Amino acid sequence: MTKLPHRIVLVGPPGAGKGTQAVILSQQLGIPHISTGDMLREAVSAGSELGQQVKAVLDSGELVSDEILVKIVRERLTNSDCQFGFLLDGFPRTVQQAEALTEMLKELARPLTHLVKIIVPQEVLIARIISRAQEAGRSDDTLEVVSRRVQVYWEKTAPVIKYYQLLSVSGGEIKMVEVDGIGTVEEVSARLMGAL
Ligand code: AMP
Repeated sequence: MTKLPHRIVLVGPPGAGKGTQAVILSQQLGIPHISTGDMLREAVSAGSELGQQVKAVLDSGELVSDEILVKIVRERLTNSDCQFGFLLDGFPRTVQQAEALTEMLKELARPLTHLVKIIVPQEVLIARIISRAQEAGRSDDTLEVVSRRVQVYWEKTAPVIKYYQLLSVSGGEIKMVEVDGIGTVEEVSARLMGAL
């Protein structure tokens, strides 16, 4: 039996455990994990031109421009390791990015197979965010910046889910999956695998 490719977009608000689950899921499925946040942070630490261009935006919790993101994702998706699937983590973050992604995947004749959404109640998110801010591992993990990222998520990224819902009812092949993000890392990842 040949394995069907998984071309997944993973979404969820800051604090939902999206990054952690993306790493596990991509390993279990044997597909590349494409995190635009990681790519941008790597560019910042490498001090590249892109890094210098985006550092201030990352540190503020705002979004980097659609133009820059679409360009780096396009380059990444045309890489041969994405031939048998991929997991996108942190992209698309705006409806414009989602539209651009639909177009580029159409050109590649590789449409998305799943939109996976991790759901966590607001009060749990807030508790997680506060404890993460106290550990402050990242320069954009201060309470102030994370609050802004949460706000940006509801303003700009939540409409992306609507976009895919409309796409799926209008005949797209994309499977919409919702997974409860409460519990241990292992519990949530078992749920995710089960839902796919
Ligand atoms: P993340 O690690 O996905 O939370 O991303 C960290 C930061 O990188 C975000 O707060 C944005 O500033 C930037 N970023 C990552 N992905 C995107 C995207 N798709 N569009 C715009 N900005 C992004």
